[in-house]
Amino acid sequence: MANLLQVKFGVQEVFLRPNGSGGFTTVAAAGQGISRQVTGATLSLNWRRDIATTPAANATKRPASLELIARIKKPNSATDGYARFAIFPGKVTFVQGTAGVEPRFKGDFLLVNNQRVQTIGLSDANNVTRSDFFFLIAGDGTTVDLKNDPGPILLALPWLFEDTNPILQVNARLSVAEVVEADENSNTPLDVPLQHPAVPDEGVANDVARHPLLNYFGVRNIATLSNAARLPKIRFSGRTLRVFFHATFRAFCTEHSSASLVDIATAVTTILTDAGFAAVTVSRDTPADAECGRFFRPVNGRFMSRLIVDPDQSKRPEDRIENRFAAAIANNTPEAVLIPDTMVVRVPFFDFFIFAEQAEPPNPNELAHSEGAVSGGILPAAAEKLLVTPTIIATGLGSGTPLRALLARVETTDHLNVLASTIAHEIGHSFGLRHNLAFPAALPYRMGDPQGLQRGVMAPAGTRQVPGSKDRSPLLFFGPVHQAMIRKLFF
Ligand SMILES: [Zn+2]
Repeated sequence: MANLLQVKFGVQEVFLRPNGSGGFTTVAAAGQGISRQVTGATLSLNWRRDIATTPAANATKRPASLELIARIKKPNSATDGYARFAIFPGKVTFVQGTAGVEPRFKGDFLLVNNQRVQTIGLSDANNVTRSDFFFLIAGDGTTVDLKNDPGPILLALPWLFEDTNPILQVNARLSVAEVVEADENSNTPLDVPLQHPAVPDEGVANDVARHPLLNYFGVRNIATLSNAARLPKIRFSGRTLRVFFHATFRAFCTEHSSASLVDIATAVTTILTDAGFAAVTVSRDTPADAECGRFFRPVNGRFMSRLIVDPDQSKRPEDRIENRFAAAIANNTPEAVLIPDTMVVRVPFFDFFIFAEQAEPPNPNELAHSEGAVSGGILPAAAEKLLVTPTIIATGLGSGTPLRALLARVETTDHLNVLASTIAHEIGHSFGLRHNLAFPAALPYRMGDPQGLQRGVMAPAGTRQVPGSKDRSPLLFFGPVHQAMIRKLFF
């Protein structure tokens, strides 16, 4: 016997109707102008319609494996491109039911506890283990029982994305006694639309002037590449992305973290290489300070362009522009001081200078400040940027500062992940990447996933945790939407 069966997907979905001002209404049925969002699926098992006769009832429990796979949408005739994202081992039996013999799959996946929402993922595929495309899967309870637990299972879908074809196709493959009985080509795949139109930037509704409505992409956690159309393109080819750790940042790592500078530098390189930058160097020693000093200097403990010097040094100190700017930085309002063009530094676009300051971050979800660029401050022909401040890791004034608090909360072995992911996050902002938002299944869109499953470098810092654990912080990577934007701008 082979290919007798078919796995079917019952869809769980919501429909959103944008109201034009950054809010939405959720409606249960499809209709004109309504965006459909798939939040999960229910699996059932049937005989293939085209088989001549169904087998006789047979109570033998045959070992089986139900695999879930996904790919960027292709015609049903295409057989390639699938990535596997879940495997449920179990048993198949043929049971006499009222309307004939029914195939039944019963999983024997062992659960570590009896929570209703479980997460499983594969450790051998980066695009699954790193993913924050999540949805809920359940069996129909009769023909498919995934495990001895009535609750749905939260699955990470592979991080696969193409902005011109933003549909993920989810499919299944069932093997019984190592023979494929439900071939992915005979199942009907479930299309999961990845595009979320008219989502307010930063999840702030009803303030379109400051938080425009943008296209976001993803499943449950969503990201936008909206700035790709606005920003100038700079070819990275032939260049090197250089990161310099200033003495202030090195001292913070040594004093307040268990991470070695070598390991942080390696992790930063790993993240940026994964994003497509083939040449990355991280300077983490004294020579980095000289390079940092070519562009930036401290004023009252705040780092700024070294050209910011009041031409009239006879003024009272507090009236000099460098001191007013330092005070504004300390107050998280650097834009309050207008810096003249002549005081802005021109920095190679792919150079990043990482300083640490005893400052509180711009908001409790952030650990650092990205570079302070002037409006329109990218010079594509010269591959330079115009900056007033470098990247600042906000070390805070005490142990309650977000970065210090996060380091205290996670395993010390994960300190390097926190620090490397934070640096990559701020570099991402310099590339024009916006934060991820969460769309758990119902409105509203928001910053931060309430279940702590928002991953990816551009997620808000407070949500960087492994599912089911409050004390781990994995090394985070740029997700596929942000990688698509990096490709558009630089490759
Ligand atoms: Zn941020």
